[in-house]
Amino acid sequence: MKISSSSTNILSRLQYCARCCVPETQEGISFDAYGVCQACQSSEQKMHINWAEREKELRGILDAAKEKAGNNYDCIVPISGGKDSVFQLHVLVNVYGMKPLAVTFSHNWYSEVGWYNLQNALQEFDVDHIMFTPNRGLVNRLAERSLGMIGDACWHCHSGIGAFPLQIAVKFNIPLLIWGESIAESSGRASYKDPVHKFDRDYFTKVSAKRQPKEMVSSLISERDLHPFNVPSIEEIERAGVYGIHLGDYIFWGEERQTEFIRQEYGWKETEIEGAYKGYKSAECIMSGVHDFTCYLKRGYGRATMQACVDVRNGLMTREEGLTLARSIDSQRPGALDYFLKITNLSEAAFYETIKQLKHLKLIDIDIPVHPKNQGNHQGNLPFFEQIIAKYRNQKDPREID
Ligand SMILES: [Zn+2]
Repeated sequence: MKISSSSTNILSRLQYCARCCVPETQEGISFDAYGVCQACQSSEQKMHINWAEREKELRGILDAAKEKAGNNYDCIVPISGGKDSVFQLHVLVNVYGMKPLAVTFSHNWYSEVGWYNLQNALQEFDVDHIMFTPNRGLVNRLAERSLGMIGDACWHCHSGIGAFPLQIAVKFNIPLLIWGESIAESSGRASYKDPVHKFDRDYFTKVSAKRQPKEMVSSLISERDLHPFNVPSIEEIERAGVYGIHLGDYIFWGEERQTEFIRQEYGWKETEIEGAYKGYKSAECIMSGVHDFTCYLKRGYGRATMQACVDVRNGLMTREEGLTLARSIDSQRPGALDYFLKITNLSEAAFYETIKQLKHLKLIDIDIPVHPKNQGNHQGNLPFFEQIIAKYRNQKDPREID
């Protein structure tokens, strides 16, 4: 795909929500008779929900879990160190006095700030923690396989954050899992009037990972390599009585306000994030810009569009301003693409060609414009752990610290 400065007709080709900036190419999207998307409808519902009632319901669920837990942990909190997980820990530990086991599936692509945020949260909330990190060789092979199979670099992460907390729930016999944001908040897959209460073992596979581990087997990836990505069996899930809730279905969720709060109270840090104009979503991962760029190439929108949608809904900018801003950011080639190409041994041309095969039908004959990025990335385009390893390996005496 050529680097092009011409603006194409993505805007005129696609139907967009009449209220925000989300196009019809978003997966799972639906519009009402007025052309308004489900997420905009949910943001209206949010204002009319009796949150005091919902909070009572939450207290009931947490009290019951505590009573059942005995000496075991009350619940599992899957955390990445991102803003939602830190807010979850605040609510559960400091507001409701729960004793959670914090569980992290590491994508092995941590940014330095992301790593700080995770370690700082564990210290602030003084919680026990388990982390699983797949080996880097496998992560690299899966990143290459993932691009062709699901059209982004992140199958191992989508799959792992679904599977690992469930494995821990079953192994440690801790039935309650607590996530953060409601599914209604930014997707059409649920609404605040009809939240997802029932536990769905395959939710992450259906929504983000798309493929079962066995489908990822290749000449370079064995079924044994993929064992850690399998979710427990239905029998195991039932035996442990696993169920899950999203805090955002019980307490009013406002990400800007929550981010402000955890920054002030707990020293949580934002950072520069590629493909985004806010510094708080996916701050833990250096590759989020590549993920969002592939979405843009396939579906004509990226992370900046989703952020503009929220700002438009909140009255902070007009729909037109949102669309213009989003377009200028979504189309920038992320610096971390260099790292992706290095670990996958793909050429840039092969990258674009693979994505082209997976383009949404509505955009199939359109040239999606790509622009060079207009600034560097101060986090660096290498995972933090690789940066540390390089730094110490390159010193003559490993005890020397510069
Ligand atoms: Zn909308």
